[in-house]
Amino acid sequence: MVAMGRPVVIAIDGPAGAGKSTVARKVAERLGLAYVDSGATYRAAALKVLEAGVSPDDAQRVAALVSGAQIEWVAPASPGVAWRVRVDGRDVTTSIRTPEVALAAAKISQLPAVRTKLVALQRQLNVGPGVVMEGRDIGTVVFPDADLKVFLDADPRERARRRRGQDAEEGRASTLEEIASQLERRDQLDAGRAISPLVPAPDAHIIDSTRLSPDQVVEKIIELARERALVERAKDKT
Ligand code: C5P
Repeated sequence: MVAMGRPVVIAIDGPAGAGKSTVARKVAERLGLAYVDSGATYRAAALKVLEAGVSPDDAQRVAALVSGAQIEWVAPASPGVAWRVRVDGRDVTTSIRTPEVALAAAKISQLPAVRTKLVALQRQLNVGPGVVMEGRDIGTVVFPDADLKVFLDADPRERARRRRGQDAEEGRASTLEEIASQLERRDQLDAGRAISPLVPAPDAHIIDSTRLSPDQVVEKIIELARERALVERAKDKT
């Protein structure tokens, strides 16, 4: 069928460790949409800053470095697989997954120059059949007209536990206390920043995933998508 109308946009926002990545990827796979982790661009910019030996707290030098960086998306081979990120020609998708880069990302994402550049980058992906994009400001700033907005939350202790499981899978050993304090620090930075703070959009569906499995959350989101005829719209376009 010929693609008609605008792409389907599903925004999934929430704090670190709430399960956004797993859920967003599965929803994208089910609906045949692109899966995009917007945080990867903030991490990519942060990696550039760290590698240049610049302090993430040095607003002026960070803004100059990130403004001059060539940050690009690289399309995956199939839906439900994350778009990759390149900085100055180098694919950094894997090297940005460290706690140091995460904290630096939370610091530099406070800066207007960084946010303006990266929000424009996220908006480029509103193409094809559509996108499931996860982040902090997708439903509030990047795509305020998204077809469906979900704010995924979970108890901080449970988020730390999940993040530890993920770290172990990726070969990093850390204690629950270490992770809990890293998450708390990032929560404070993300929720307390002056621009685009982490808050649910007024029209977001808030899902508390503390006692839900990823598949249960996915089913809830698919149900919300079905109610809005998004499942049919996405299928028409693939
Ligand atoms: O999602 P992830 O934890 O990888 O994001 C790393 C950091 O990037 C977040 O703590 C947040 O400060 C920033 N971020 C943001 N806006 C987004 C996505 C991520 O400010 N849409």
